[in-house]
Amino acid sequence: MRLFSINFTVVIGLCSTLVIFAQEPQLHPPQDFVDLQKTIPGLVVELRYASEENFTGRTITGYETKKLYGTTALMQALTKVQKALEKRGLALKIYDAYRPQRAVNDFIRWSRIPSDTLKKRTYYPSIKKDTLFRAGYIASKSGHSRGSTVDLSIVSQDGIPLDMGGEWDFFGVRSWYAFEGITVEQKAHRKLLRDLMLANGFKPYSKEWWHFTLIEEPYPDTYFDFIPN
Ligand SMILES: [Zn+2]
Repeated sequence: MRLFSINFTVVIGLCSTLVIFAQEPQLHPPQDFVDLQKTIPGLVVELRYASEENFTGRTITGYETKKLYGTTALMQALTKVQKALEKRGLALKIYDAYRPQRAVNDFIRWSRIPSDTLKKRTYYPSIKKDTLFRAGYIASKSGHSRGSTVDLSIVSQDGIPLDMGGEWDFFGVRSWYAFEGITVEQKAHRKLLRDLMLANGFKPYSKEWWHFTLIEEPYPDTYFDFIPN
């Protein structure tokens, strides 16, 4: 496992020598990272990893400043989605966007402590904790660390979430976009979110209805590790 790897340049030289160079994480934000809450009017934010309301039950390392950051490109695309929702009397609600590599490393540390199951009932009731990493629910790197991936849902103007037939960060098939065991209305809500995101330059993730990545992301190979401030 390469916790601090960013990208790899593989050089195959003479005599079939294989050399792998691993870059250090990017500790300083580039200029085109912005505070999404400050730059997207009307956005609702609930940064769950900066609270106890996530699968670990505690604040995650790297979220101490409680700031929601992302690339300018992400902000611009989300602004378009937000405007489209406003016309319907709705708004975007973001749970997470830029995630420092140290937060991902914290997830891994947590996954290695079998007795720490504080939030099992809510987030992974039918999955054994020691299989979360193997099953792909937790990985050593996350697209979120590249700054152009976002977890989000839709709320009414009163801030009440649309019923998506499952909660953010639930580890299980209920989170799959195409999960059949939900109502027609819940499916329609998921489709509304996905259609708007796809119309504005995002690609979805089939196993998490809330997770989208900007197709033209500015840092497709860079995993950042700065703390927003
Ligand atoms: Zn995500």
